[in-house]
Formats: sequence, structure tokens, C-alpha cells
Amino acid sequence: MGIIACKFGGTSTAGADMFKRIEGILRQDPDRRYAVLSAPGRCGDTEKMTDALYRAWRNKDAARAAERFEAIARGLSIDMDFRTEIERALRVSEAETVSRGEYLCAKLFARFSGMPFVDAADVIRFDARGQIDYDKTSRALRDMARTHPRAVIPGFYGSGPDGRIVTLPRNGSDITGALVAAGVGAALYENWTDVPGLMTGDPGADPGARVIPAVSYARMRTLAEDGVQVLHPDCLEPVARAGIPTRIRCTLMPDAPGTLVEG
Ligand code: ASP
Repeated sequence: MGIIACKFGGTSTAGADMFKRIEGILRQDPDRRYAVLSAPGRCGDTEKMTDALYRAWRNKDAARAAERFEAIARGLSIDMDFRTEIERALRVSEAETVSRGEYLCAKLFARFSGMPFVDAADVIRFDARGQIDYDKTSRALRDMARTHPRAVIPGFYGSGPDGRIVTLPRNGSDITGALVAAGVGAALYENWTDVPGLMTGDPGADPGARVIPAVSYARMRTLAEDGVQVLHPDCLEPVARAGIPTRIRCTLMPDAPGTLVEG
């Protein structure tokens, strides 16, 4: 069908079993050539990795965040040093520190899957005011796609003109995924999450809630701005402008069609 750019959210990277699921989903369709990953999300009593890293920055202590990664790596039989990288970031900045959630997650997935790793700092570019530099970003992504037919890319951050790490808003990996989809000229942006799609109601409160099969970008934007937290509102623009449909899908139900957002 053409290139599919996939974004996997924090619940999809929360443990070793989920890494294996992502790998299976990518293997299922060779068009799924670019994977943007969020940092591991909440898992039982364990907080989101990004929250753990904000705490690490405040306490200047890398140990707890590193331990979570070590546990996931153990479950994948991979031996990798996470602590040194987090300790290095702690000496640089808060943004550098919290971005290590996505950076190390993507590094670990690259090791596990054999997919090449591309650092978001090299392809997601910000201007001096901290706004996304769309021209530089799309040029960098186009160049990257020429040399990398497949890649795993961390979400949530990029770099400014001085090379320093700049983060997107919270839950911003959706935005990275949309930028990557547009930049590599994808035919489809798949946003893999922990819900079966956009629902008619809250399935917890309404047992009759069902998945909405298709919705327009304009409607999705209104819903997102009204607080429906399936996609980050700012991720819609880059793909809508490029005419790329987005499909919201559930990592736990990989064969379910989810919701198609287009036109
Ligand atoms: N990890 C970041 C956050 O927790 C970004 C994301 O998950 O999209 O906000």
C-alpha cells in the first residue's frame, strides 16, 4: 500500500511482553517501516517512565528510572546499560533527562528487533523560540528516509538550532509520529494505543459503547480539543495537511480495524 509510519504509545512499550507484541505487529506488514515509540507508560503501580525521569531530574538520581528499563531488558534477555546515559543527561538539562525515556526505549527496541535506530534529535527540529521548524524537520526526515528504508525513532523530543534537546508537550509522541509520517511520505499513519479506537462513549461507564469506524480530521480535532484523549490535537495538522489518513489501533487487538481518521 505504500509506507506505513507507526506510533506506539506508552502502554504499548510498558513491558517486555509489549515489546514482543510491537515486533510482531511490525513483522506482520512489511510496509510498517517506521516505528515511533513513547517511553514505557504506567504498569500496575509503576509510574510512567517520563514522570520517573522528571523525579530523577529533581532528585538528581538515575537509579529508579534505570531499574525500570533494566527489568524490561531482562525480560528480553538483553544486557544494556541505561544508568550511564541517564546520569549523563542529568548533568545536561531537564529536557535532556526526560527525553531519555523515549531515547532509551527506542534504543532497546532497536536492539531487540534489529531495526536501525535514528535519534529524534537528528530529524525533529525546533527553531530558536522552541517551535517545531517544519521545513527543517521535513527535509531531515526526507534525507533520513533515503538512507534508512526502516527505522525506529524516539517520540516526544527533537533538537534546537544549538543542538540542545527540546521536548514536545506531554503525550507529544503522537506529534512525532505525525511528523515522521508526513516527512517520509507515508500512505498511512497508524497510531497504536490501548483503546480499540474512537468510541461512542466511555466503555467503563457505558457497556454499549462501540468503536466509531471512521471520522473526519475536522471532527477529530473538535473532539480532541474537547478533551477526548485518544490523539494529541497537535498531531492532526501535519498528517491532515499532507492528505495522510490516520488509523487508531489497539496493540492488544492487532487485527481489529480501529478508527480511520481522514479528509
Ligand atoms: N512520554 C511522554 C509523556 O509521558 C510523551 C508521550 O508519551 O507521548 O508525556
